[in-house]
Amino acid sequence: RSAAFSQRRGEREALLAEIEGDVRETARQTGLSRLPDVVRTAIASVPRHCFVRPSDDAHAYENRALPIDHGQTISQPYIVAVMTALCGAGPGKRILEIGTGCGYQAAVLAETGAVVYSIEVVPPLARSAAQTLEALGYGSPDVVLREGDGRQGWPEVAPFDAILVAAAAERMPSALGEQLAVGGTLVFPMGPANPRRPFPSGQTLCAVDKQSDGSFRTRKLIPVAFVPLVAPGRIS
Ligand code: SAH
Repeated sequence: RSAAFSQRRGEREALLAEIEGDVRETARQTGLSRLPDVVRTAIASVPRHCFVRPSDDAHAYENRALPIDHGQTISQPYIVAVMTALCGAGPGKRILEIGTGCGYQAAVLAETGAVVYSIEVVPPLARSAAQTLEALGYGSPDVVLREGDGRQGWPEVAPFDAILVAAAAERMPSALGEQLAVGGTLVFPMGPANPRRPFPSGQTLCAVDKQSDGSFRTRKLIPVAFVPLVAPGRIS
């Protein structure tokens, strides 16, 4: 494994402890009383400092979102942990992520043993995430990346056991619901586009479960602030 995994372990352990505190405090809203062991191990393992801008190196293990290039963000570690847990990520699970960004969430999913398919709409972000993930050993076939419009999903490799959308939308894109397996969960921030605006953003993290009859049951969980899900070419 890359040397990065043995660097700054103490900071990751401290971050994990902070996240676990937040998880306990929000247990009633999220329905998660604690993080599954695979998620705890993944957060403690993935070197987040490899995914942030060099100028944010000192902040890599703070429990907050940080800016990345092209006006996008790396999500708050607590949110990454909760979304990973809500997806039921674990060995052999096939998970689709929309919005690769810097690739940190994809690495955390992969570290649980899941097979990750991730789509990014901004070409230079897609390229740099591919490089970062590859260098850390999160390459194909464990993590498969694609540049394009995630709102269409990835029909060629569907269905997925879970779908994680890392950008906000007013409604769940219907293609994603179709590509979710029965019994699977789609996790997404529902609400208006309020790029980079602090709380209250009007967005709510939702977990949508696909029932055996093909219908969807939506649980509204916690307030969040995500960048918007956009059409290709809208971000430069
Ligand atoms: N998953 C990231 C967070 C990414 S922020 C992490 O690990 O921290 C959301 C990302 O979604 C941005 O990179 C943005 O460019 C991307 N995005 C926005 N609209 C998209 C679309 N239609 N398809 C795919 N990606 C999209």
